[in-house]
Amino acid sequence: MTDVLVAEDLRRTYGDTAALSGVSLSVGDGEVFALVGPNGAGKTTLIRALTGTTEPDSGSVRVFDSRPTAVDRQRIGLLPQSFDPPERLTARELVTYYAGLYDEARDPEAILAEVGIAESAATRYENLSGGQQRRTCVGTALVNDPDLLFLDEPTTGVDPAGRRALWRLIERLADEGTTVVLTTHYMAEAERLADRVGLLADGKLAAVGSPTALVAEHGGRTRLVVETSDGSAEADDERAEASDEAEMNDDAETTDAPDSVASASAAADAAADALTTTDFEVETTERGLVVHGVAPEDIGRVVGTLDDRGVEYGALTWTEPDLEDVFLQLTGRSADGSGEAATIGSGADAEPSNAVAEGEL
Ligand code: ADP
Repeated sequence: MTDVLVAEDLRRTYGDTAALSGVSLSVGDGEVFALVGPNGAGKTTLIRALTGTTEPDSGSVRVFDSRPTAVDRQRIGLLPQSFDPPERLTARELVTYYAGLYDEARDPEAILAEVGIAESAATRYENLSGGQQRRTCVGTALVNDPDLLFLDEPTTGVDPAGRRALWRLIERLADEGTTVVLTTHYMAEAERLADRVGLLADGKLAAVGSPTALVAEHGGRTRLVVETSDGSAEADDERAEASDEAEMNDDAETTDAPDSVASASAAADAAADALTTTDFEVETTERGLVVHGVAPEDIGRVVGTLDDRGVEYGALTWTEPDLEDVFLQLTGRSADGSGEAATIGSGADAEPSNAVAEGEL
């Protein structure tokens, strides 16, 4: 694959802050490359350096084998993170205006439809919702039908339906051969869209690779979390009351609740022992058990052991390692603070959300 973008050892400081501390990367023709990292990681500075909107202190960037500022602007599309178009123009006027800046531009109506704004095209930008505004901005980056598209946080502030629509649009553009470099702090977005992901933390790339390879290498094992405590404040109160009573009462045998708490925990311990004698590593936590390395086809066996030992659980949650785990593993921090779990058990509020896990049960 030909590289359309090559950056070497980019460094950029602002005062005492090192925004980029030696970033090297390359992006192949037709690839979707996602830069992932928390706020302040250096994503925007990197995009700006790659597009020539800021000069790095040192290092080099080649885009289509030229300096970024020397590339035919017809070939590049850029959605900056901060983009405040004239608010009194309608979505249609904005897209048409930006289309007018290029010798060869696409039909604004087609773009408005693609970004899902056709029905609100006559609405002034200032009266669009935050998500509609962002989608209109994405539209302005597409008017020149770019070969290389930079999208800095394209879906931040966009509601879930709008986000999915933008994901489909980016996938379609990629299918048609557009090279896309995007930034996001949504791991699910990177996992879904990117051929390769660059994990950026403190101005450095902690790792680069396909989501699958990164997860396989750094993500750790699957986990089955068995909540034997329901975790609710009410339940905690009940347990606290029960144990207070037990402490005050010389004859604990006569009180029901402490007995059941004790037996539940004994059952969990027994289940932990039973599972450990098989091939699972079991961790006992305040809320229950965490069974590591449970493959989907093993879930039934674990549940059978829990039932055999009389363990009563509020919820079973099975999680596969994902990019969030990779980021955590490599940087010791969370990239977006929103790890998603697949709940497959009987918790009252549990919404099954993982088709594989449900199917396997
Ligand atoms: P991200 O896009 O990942 O949130 P940025 O590239 O915006 O990260 O910022 C990286 C670091 O550089 C942050 O600490 C930020 O405060 C700092 N920074 C970025 N741009 C400027 C600027 N124009 N002036 C001063 N500091 C900046």
